[in-house]
Amino acid sequence: MANVDVIVVGAGVAGLVTADRVRAAGRSVVVLEARDRVGGRTLTEVVPGVKDLSVDAGATWVAPDQQHVRTELARFGLETTPQAGPGDALASLRGKARRYTGAARALDPVTTADVGQAMMRFAAAAEHVDVVAPWRGDHATKYDAQTFESWIRRTCVTSKGRDYFRLLCEAVLATEPQNVSLLHMLFVARSGGGLSHLVTTGGGAQDARVVGGMQQLAQFLAAGLGRWVRLQEPVTTIMHDADGVSVHSESGATTAHRVVVTVPPALATSIEYLPGLPHDRTQLVQRMPHGSVVKCHAVYSRPFWHDFALSGEMTTDEGPGKVVFDTSPPGSGYGVLTVLVEGDDALRLGARGEARARTAVLRGLAEHLGPRAMDPLAFVSRDWTAEEWTRGCFGAQLPPGAWTQVGSALRVPVGRIHWAGAETAERWCGYVDGAVSSGERAAAEVLAALP
Ligand SMILES: Cc1cc2nc3c(=O)[nH]c(=O)nc-3n(C[C@H](O)[C@H](O)[C@H](O)COP(=O)(O)OP(=O)(O)OC[C@H]3O[C@@H](n4cnc5c(N)ncnc54)[C@H](O)[C@@H]3O)c2cc1C
Repeated sequence: MANVDVIVVGAGVAGLVTADRVRAAGRSVVVLEARDRVGGRTLTEVVPGVKDLSVDAGATWVAPDQQHVRTELARFGLETTPQAGPGDALASLRGKARRYTGAARALDPVTTADVGQAMMRFAAAAEHVDVVAPWRGDHATKYDAQTFESWIRRTCVTSKGRDYFRLLCEAVLATEPQNVSLLHMLFVARSGGGLSHLVTTGGGAQDARVVGGMQQLAQFLAAGLGRWVRLQEPVTTIMHDADGVSVHSESGATTAHRVVVTVPPALATSIEYLPGLPHDRTQLVQRMPHGSVVKCHAVYSRPFWHDFALSGEMTTDEGPGKVVFDTSPPGSGYGVLTVLVEGDDALRLGARGEARARTAVLRGLAEHLGPRAMDPLAFVSRDWTAEEWTRGCFGAQLPPGAWTQVGSALRVPVGRIHWAGAETAERWCGYVDGAVSSGERAAAEVLAALP
């Protein structure tokens, strides 16, 4: 006889939403989580040595059109604060820094024209992508036979235009465009409302931050589930047959009618499935590597960049930290700069050791903000590639061929095994909003299938 109706593997946002909905429907559920905490890729950390200050080491921002996560935040009374602040942002390409306000990054007129025409072509191509089934459609095979880098080279006529799109790719996927299928880039953009929307503060994907930190969402969901969330229980084996599932972790086996696996695709292969999964599913998760991000926070006694009428938002093509935001908590008095080191830069920085990595990141800030940037009150960083239970972020990206050859296996249950997680979402794939909607979908699937 089954111990519970449903087992959920992973206590990130997707897993906790799945469990929350199963429980709300009056069915029994247990969540098995490998880490000693909930939240997965959401993590709000206290900054050591700085009174009353915490930072989001994982996910930070929500967009106005992310209705799934917004509804969930509102349910727990979690408020947001706008990202866009006073002052000019900075864009620096090939050593030339320009100030700008609003969404359009300051580029010289020739680059602006080049980026504009390429953006129009990108948007037109994205129109052909089916977000529900990206592997389908007249153009899918053609787009999936090339990398985003080859598209950039073919489409942009200026070197700065090409650099701009490479930067966009790193900012959105935390990897270089030669690693990514054009179809995947088009899908991610369409899934999140357009490429520009994904890199915009006011009104876009970086519109607002959660006051007190994003991980609170997972903590509230877990509190509602109480003892049914079991930490430090890495799942090693899932046995499944016509009668039920048996999920094995350190404390033994738990049985259920259905299991929902919400671990990131790159980690799904570390679980043994008996009997094994269909070939297309196995191939798919082997072809969904994660990007690389080291997320750093430099904390100052006050946001001194306001003295120069700068907002603290910066985009630069010189690493290691190419994307910077002011994430100072409102009313705290502190000045906090979030520095995102992505792709190759993150891999190199992660290998440098803590002290040298810190110096390299601060030097990058000082380049644009002056010597005061070298002397923060505190500096914290998290290398997500080194995280045993995440192995890179922000999420998975598919290389050429993967979507059209095996992508259709993404959400298809295998017997009694169901799949959730931000990477399985149709809308806002790879974002917290996608994690929420994937949990809702998976919960509906298992509830419909329970005896
Ligand atoms: C640095 C960073 C910045 C980001 N910024 C943003 C942002 O600003 N906005 C946004 O919307 N999104 C952002 N994201 C992406 C967002 O965090 C994720 O899309 C989302 O949190 C994924 O949720 P999930 O539940 O699908 O997966 P996860 O959060 O990865 O949860 C999976 C869980 O499974 C557990 N697990 C793994 N293996 C096992 C096992 N064998 N047994 C049991 N448990 C296991 C893991 O420990 C984890 O808790 C960011 C991510 C990172 C890392």
